[in-house]
Amino acid sequence: MSAPLSPEISIIVPIYNEAPNLQLLIESILDVMRPMGRPFELILVDDGSTDGGQQMLRAMKTDISELRVIFLRRNFGQSAAITAGFDYARGELIITMDGDLQNDPRNIPQMIAKLEEGYDLVSGWRHKRQDPFFSKRFPSMLANWLIGKVTGVKLHDYGCSLKVYRSDVAKGLLLYGELHRFIPVLANLYGARITEVVVTHHPRRMGKSKYGISRAYRVLIDLLLMLFFQNFSTRPLQFFGLNGGLLFGIGLVIEIYLTWLKLWGGKDIGGRPLLLLGAILIITGIVLGGLGLLGELVVRTYYESSGKRVYTVREVLE
Ligand code: UDP
Ligand code: MG
Repeated sequence: MSAPLSPEISIIVPIYNEAPNLQLLIESILDVMRPMGRPFELILVDDGSTDGGQQMLRAMKTDISELRVIFLRRNFGQSAAITAGFDYARGELIITMDGDLQNDPRNIPQMIAKLEEGYDLVSGWRHKRQDPFFSKRFPSMLANWLIGKVTGVKLHDYGCSLKVYRSDVAKGLLLYGELHRFIPVLANLYGARITEVVVTHHPRRMGKSKYGISRAYRVLIDLLLMLFFQNFSTRPLQFFGLNGGLLFGIGLVIEIYLTWLKLWGGKDIGGRPLLLLGAILIITGIVLGGLGLLGELVVRTYYESSGKRVYTVREVLE
């Protein structure tokens, strides 16, 4: 009747207005997972759907013991829905995929096999992606190239939802905002061993895509955030202090030079743009330095109040 007490595998699917896809989605996942003969749970996270899907899920739950459904109180977005799934997942292995039938659960066994070769995260690579070119594939091509360049995490496809994780890696990710697109980067920061596997991808046949072209720009801002995290999240003073010190230094040299002109050269410096530049550089430098110090306080509060460590451990032998 109830799901097995300790599932080995948790499959998480965020659902937002996917009613026409639900039946097939659940069947196709069960068709792959049941024959594998390993205890699993299928966690559907309903992200505040308003299309009648919630009633369908309630009805389906009664016949499917492996199914767990989490109803969020409103629409929180894909990242939050996935995070809710991570929080409730009990399996050693966690799988995420989309609820719109674009990912194919038949890829799951080979991805699990890959993970068990000794990886912490196996990410899908939609080699033949079935999405519109201008609104999806083209911006993704740019984003994938840029993310690779900027973060040094080399994958062909960061945005594929179909992924297999070791549980501790998934639970260690904090997906604020829309950061699910940067999961490989965050996982890399966590210290995960990451690889990718080519997966099949289907066009969306029913329901509507939840994202348009505007997300391309948001991805850029998030990329900036990732870059900062990657380099300075535990030492903000190094970042702000270094740049602040540089600006302050240049400003100081400028002002000393002008003072020297005035006092020993007898020149008039009141109308020189350089005077203003120097003053601005000095002030900016001081402000940046202050921000760095504040950042240090914030970082300490963050780590110490949440009991987080500045490292992650893979294994302890004793
Ligand atoms: N989704 C969600 N909450 C949202 C938006 C999307 O849970 O606010 C789910 C959606 O139901 C789907 C997955 O996230 O299962 C991916 O969404 P979609 O297929 O619209 O994205 P695309 O494939 O167009 O990038
Ligand atoms: Mg989709």
